[in-house]
Amino acid sequence: MTIDHGVARSAYRHGEFPDDHGRFGEFGGRYVPEGLMAALMELDEAYSLARIDPGFIGEVEELLRERVGRPTLFHQVPRFAELLAVPGVRVYLKREDMAHTGAHKINNALGQVLLAKRMGKSRIIAETGAGQHGVAVATVCSMLGLACVIYMGADDMRRQASNVVRMNMVGAEVRAVHTGNRRLKDAISESVRDWVSNVDTTYYVFGTAAGPAPYPKMVRDFQTVIGIEARAQILKSEGRLPDYVMACVGGGSNAIGLFHSFADDPEVGLIGVEAAGRGLDTGEHAATLAAGSPGEMDGTYSYLLQDEDGQIRRTHSIAAGLDYPGVGPELSYLKDTGRVTYQAASDAVALRAMQTLSISEGIIPALESAHAIGYLMEMAENGDLPGDSVVIVGLSGRGDKDLAIAAQRLSRAERI
Ligand SMILES: *Cc1c(COP(=O)(O)O)cnc(C)c1O
Repeated sequence: MTIDHGVARSAYRHGEFPDDHGRFGEFGGRYVPEGLMAALMELDEAYSLARIDPGFIGEVEELLRERVGRPTLFHQVPRFAELLAVPGVRVYLKREDMAHTGAHKINNALGQVLLAKRMGKSRIIAETGAGQHGVAVATVCSMLGLACVIYMGADDMRRQASNVVRMNMVGAEVRAVHTGNRRLKDAISESVRDWVSNVDTTYYVFGTAAGPAPYPKMVRDFQTVIGIEARAQILKSEGRLPDYVMACVGGGSNAIGLFHSFADDPEVGLIGVEAAGRGLDTGEHAATLAAGSPGEMDGTYSYLLQDEDGQIRRTHSIAAGLDYPGVGPELSYLKDTGRVTYQAASDAVALRAMQTLSISEGIIPALESAHAIGYLMEMAENGDLPGDSVVIVGLSGRGDKDLAIAAQRLSRAERI
């Protein structure tokens, strides 16, 4: 079976999105209570000025260079590529796992906390699911000297205990959320409640390219550094653009950050890989774009996983960072225009990919990132990866946080 991997059919000009109402086509917008509207408008106005201010941009770039470690590594993985058994294929990794704190999340955290400082806010709040966003925000707050409160579902705190220790270590207060399912969605609600009551002093750092306007645009902008670097790096290495660019999709921030710089190049296939969990037909997954439908959630109109009554469905993924029933509106728009193709990789495929990349190259990817690597392996096995393809895979984070799960699930690795 040959799948059409999203070589452009649309006239997507990324500079034009979103429009003045925060819309990407029909997706996006601001579905929030009145109390939040004023805070979002203040944020929108401040960000509109900051994003074109050379002083602000320079400050972000300097800290990304000096404190985050950008540009991040970009290189081929020839021993891994050989295992794909497709003649002439070259695979490059964009190594966001090498950024300070071990994932792409800090690109956005740094940008937003600098914006908060510019707006005169003294207190930072954020939600976190797996804890990666919380760690990034807490780290930047410590670097820049701001008070920091992180909301986290009580169940997530138990599952991701080491990240709670990391946040406390750098001086953040982690507040347990005991409402609802005691997970990410509930932590978001609690953060919003705090923000509405303390808006004069407080800035809310949202962690992915979703939520109400202006967050999807702002988070995308701060993450586009991934694709800007990768585009220059592939042109330097190959003298041409890649055939495929692949990334895992949770809320969508690492994917849109990597895809954005290639979106206007129709010859580049863009592939987003979601979590198929225990399998799309089991209902236990988090493949929002592959298996969801449009609706309102967390302040935006986008694809989400809901039942016939519009109730949000429970999700499952082995990768905590992909375990979310929503997705950012720009990625939904790019689904409907056909510019990005969405696929899904199961828990088992991700685990196998984590093991394969570790053994062949000595790089232990986060389970989230392993979904993109795993789908590439499936493409090769299914005969969907043409010979001589040049592929870039976004390695969104490092796998240290997932070692306990991996050790539990994987039998002793055999040398390949
Ligand atoms: C949070 C996270 C993700 C998923 O978030 P996106 O907003 O979809 O990028 C993916 N990979 C890692 C390593 C993460 O920490």
